[in-house]
Amino acid sequence: MPELPEVESIRRFLSSSGFMTQKVETLLVHHERSFRNESGSELEGAAFTSITRKGKKLFIHLDDGRVLVVHFSMSGTFSLTSSPGPDDIHDRVIFTAGDLRLAFHDPRRFGTIILTDDDSLIRGRLGIDALSSTLSKETLAFLLGEKKRAIKSVLLDQSIISGLGNIYVDEILWAAGIHPLIQASEVPLPSLYLLHSQMRRILMASISLGGTSLGDGESNYHAGGVRGGYYPYLKVFDRDSERCERCSSVIGKIRVAQRGTHYCPSCQPFT
Ligand SMILES: [Zn+2]
Repeated sequence: MPELPEVESIRRFLSSSGFMTQKVETLLVHHERSFRNESGSELEGAAFTSITRKGKKLFIHLDDGRVLVVHFSMSGTFSLTSSPGPDDIHDRVIFTAGDLRLAFHDPRRFGTIILTDDDSLIRGRLGIDALSSTLSKETLAFLLGEKKRAIKSVLLDQSIISGLGNIYVDEILWAAGIHPLIQASEVPLPSLYLLHSQMRRILMASISLGGTSLGDGESNYHAGGVRGGYYPYLKVFDRDSERCERCSSVIGKIRVAQRGTHYCPSCQPFT
């Protein structure tokens, strides 16, 4: 599932795609649940003007004030080709403008695009973005410090901090030396401050490489047909049974919050 670095990479791809500033000429919906128009009028004739991101969602702003809110879920992304062109069987929603054809490509079909007059409700349900300039280490420590749940499940909760998913939570907790099952309120303050700096460092590093693509199947993430390059830099995620590069212990895998969770038993002691 695309997390913050992957969605940011998709945002950058779309922003420079040439589809921006064009008027949408046609909208074709192949899978009914992939597109919902909650606004009062049709999309055709409106133009994209800018694209913003909060957490794992994209907000494509239109020149009439409306917004397309994109939830990528497990396998959504966008591809851009010239129009007319053949539709891929996994293209669920297709926008055309001039000689461009922008497809919402979603093999597993859990993603959705909502056209709305007002995105404030959706934005409001999301906690502060993990890369927001207003998320200081003190704010992060305050947000996490009162939660009496496993730190991993708190970090996955999009209503507290938005943007992190299974890959990056495992990576950030390893970098900060925090066991994923420790209750958030029991993590010492210096460790929460370290978590803050490691979170930013890891997310920025991944964005600079276009995010993480796992495996090579059709449903694996890519942005505009280009795979992310961060996979070789993952320290624990998908590395169970391998050696920890910091201490040589064998990386373990447990379940936390119904998610496969990778950690180093030596670097991340449960104390
Ligand atoms: Zn280790």
